Formats: sequence, C-alpha cells, structure tokens
Amino acid sequence: MVVVKADIKLLRRSQCGAFFVSPRQIENASRITVNAKEYAGSRAEIKQAMELCLNCRMKIVNIRKAKLLLAKLTDKALERGQAPLNRGEALG
Ligand SMILES: [Zn+2]
Repeated sequence: MVVVKADIKLLRRSQCGAFFVSPRQIENASRITVNAKEYAGSRAEIKQAMELCLNCRMKIVNIRKAKLLLAKLTDKALERGQAPLNRGEALG
C-alpha cells in the first residue's frame, strides 16, 4: 500500500463554517470567468457556487440556484454557438 500525504490550504466557508475549498479552486473558478468573456456577468454567482461545501451544495435552495446558473451559462454559450457538452454527448 502506498500512502501519499499532502498539505493543502483550505478556506473556511463563510456560510456554514466548514473547511472545504482550497484557494486554488477559487482561483480556477475565477480563471473560467476571465477566459470565457460571456460568463463575466455571472462571475459572482460562479464564485459563490464554488465556495459551497458538499453539505451546503445538497440544500434544495442551493441546488435550485445552481440549476438557474447552469441554465444561464448554457444560454450564454448557445448565444455564441458554443454549447457545452451535455452528459449524453460526453458519453457518446
Ligand atoms: Zn457548508
């Protein structure tokens, strides 16, 4: 058996106090909105969604918010003719 140890800095989530997201994940989320200009208007919402811990993500209110955000981002992508792959397409 191989045991790998890693020290990862985690940010404490402001909503529930759980340690969950690494600063690097937040950085990556920010990069998405910088690279995809059409998502710039949703920057705050994307960041907020990224910052939820797994427990908070499962709350109905957050699932609804995430669905709305995904629908909005999909619309933006469709406007530019760049529809994100849906699950069916990804699986071929
Ligand atoms: Zn939480």
